[in-house]
Amino acid sequence: MSDREPARLQALRQLSLLDTSPHESFDRIVRLASQLFNTPIAAISLADEHRQWFKSRIGIEQQGIARFKAPCAEIARSCKPLILPDLLKSEAYRDGPLVRSGLRFYAGAPLLTQEGVALGALCVAGLEPCEVSEAKRTALADLASMIMSQIELQHSLSRIDPFTGLPNRSQFTEDLQAKAKEEPSTLYCAFLTELVDSIEISTLHRVMGPNYLDDVERDAGFSLQRVLDPTSRLYAIGQCQFVHLVKATDEEGLLNEALRLRKQLIDLNSARIVTVLIHPVIGISPFRLGEAEPSDVLRTALSACQDARRAESGASIYSMSLDAGYQRRFALLNDIRPALQAGDQLRLVYQPRVEVKSGNCLGAEALLRWCHPVLGEISPAEFIPLIEHTPLARPLTDWMVHSAIEQSALWHYQGHTLRISINVSATCLGDEAFAQRLLALMEHHGLPKAALELELTESALLGKGCVARAQLQALIAAGIKIAIDDFGTGYSTLSYLQEVHAHVVKIDQSFIIGLCSEPRSQTLVKAMIGIAHELGYLVVAEGVENDETYQRLAQLECDEVQGYLIAKPLTPDEFQSWLAVGYPQARVE
Ligand code: C2E
Ligand code: CA
Ligand code: CA
Repeated sequence: MSDREPARLQALRQLSLLDTSPHESFDRIVRLASQLFNTPIAAISLADEHRQWFKSRIGIEQQGIARFKAPCAEIARSCKPLILPDLLKSEAYRDGPLVRSGLRFYAGAPLLTQEGVALGALCVAGLEPCEVSEAKRTALADLASMIMSQIELQHSLSRIDPFTGLPNRSQFTEDLQAKAKEEPSTLYCAFLTELVDSIEISTLHRVMGPNYLDDVERDAGFSLQRVLDPTSRLYAIGQCQFVHLVKATDEEGLLNEALRLRKQLIDLNSARIVTVLIHPVIGISPFRLGEAEPSDVLRTALSACQDARRAESGASIYSMSLDAGYQRRFALLNDIRPALQAGDQLRLVYQPRVEVKSGNCLGAEALLRWCHPVLGEISPAEFIPLIEHTPLARPLTDWMVHSAIEQSALWHYQGHTLRISINVSATCLGDEAFAQRLLALMEHHGLPKAALELELTESALLGKGCVARAQLQALIAAGIKIAIDDFGTGYSTLSYLQEVHAHVVKIDQSFIIGLCSEPRSQTLVKAMIGIAHELGYLVVAEGVENDETYQRLAQLECDEVQGYLIAKPLTPDEFQSWLAVGYPQARVE
């Protein structure tokens, strides 16, 4: 391999031409070449590592041939035209595959990039020997240059964002690599401007129509460019996301510059833009040229954007420690699938619920536990929100539902009358077959409907998709009880209680923890219990940690309690032993 071959192959690959579909603009030039030389064969032949691949071809069946002894490969090496008027008279090619396939004539011109690298050749081949005039040589070279112009035009178009006309992410990557060669190790900052929170983008699409964001993006790009340093190049790297580079200065200077740009966007007063819907933030990622991958620069700048959104600060500089949080979330999201397959990382624990009057245990709440092989115990409060909107939500729910029903059936056949409640997220209800699968599984295990209860939060109950509504109705019709979890934390109005046909309300622990010390909590809890009872709900208080709270709840006529005072969440074996001993009866003094 020659010294220049790796660079040549890299140039070829960067143009992303290999194994792409035919294109009329290339086929047209190849037809011209074939007519000009009056040959049955003409092709644009690209010299890949071990093969000649034809971007366009006439008179050739295969899409590619081996590179060995192919004249086009020689052209790629020499970067010079190659005319072989009679192949039989050429020492190098007399025994080659062209002659074996009946060809006698070959002429090729190199496809030269602006840097002087030959990607391959435009070639023609015929069955008879043929002398080539100077004029025809020149014409062949001209056609080869036309092909290169076409290739370079297409390439540059693929580096331009069609909506803003700005260079895109691929161009950013290329420019950063080139800059790293010119100024290695120089400290720069990437400023990533995000016009709209990515979570809001689909809502905006739905509400404002698909053209809205394109217009916003174009106007914002234009406006940003106007206020940037003229030497700065602005890139459109994603929907409503721009990036540009700034020489690193002190933190204050960087943040001031970001806020200046942000103000420009907020002040945008184009007729097309409904400014209230745009919440621009700028994430700044400092890095040394050549020492960070372009994708990492963008990732860290995006992470800074999220920090800025969270802190409502408008702009933020990438912070390693905050990023650790994202890395952890990313790792958890990646590791949940293997956890589902491993079989021993996930388990359910059961937290007893007792009747206030009698102290009898009537049931338990199934709570998920994940013991991560490296990170240890992970709280469901941390990982469930992460996967709730991913395709993993369904297998995880299935696992949890299976596991809870199996356990519940076991206890049922041992003679315990318990109601096991399981936590169901809004996404489960969006799954059309959820109710059907759950009911079939209960049937399969011979579990009575009264042995199961589903806990849903207010927002999940009010998600109100028609699929969710139908699921809920089917479950209720089958006799499954529905509990409103974290009651009191979601909606400021209680009128929805009339609409939602649930059976149980579980008052959130935030009201219960301060029940005896905060008069406001007491007033609220009293009112909640009163309203819930009037509407026919059974009331459960969560987070009961001491006897005083228990007694107060008894006075307020709360029906059931759950919390560390009764028991912490227990493994099935612990729960069974706990049941045997029971909870001290007649709690109410
Ligand atoms: P949640 O449904 O409100 O569950 C009650 C949480 O309070 C549990 O935390 C429980 O361990 C904790 N807790 C119980 N008694 C006390 C107490 O006396 N004092 C205090 N301070 N805390 C108490 P956990 O198990 O970490 O679960 C957190 C949340 O994760 C749950 O809140 C629930 O929303 C969700 N979750 C748990 N398991 C599942 C599941 O299987 N599926 C779904 N979708 N969500 C689940
Ligand atoms: Ca719950
Ligand atoms: Ca709860």
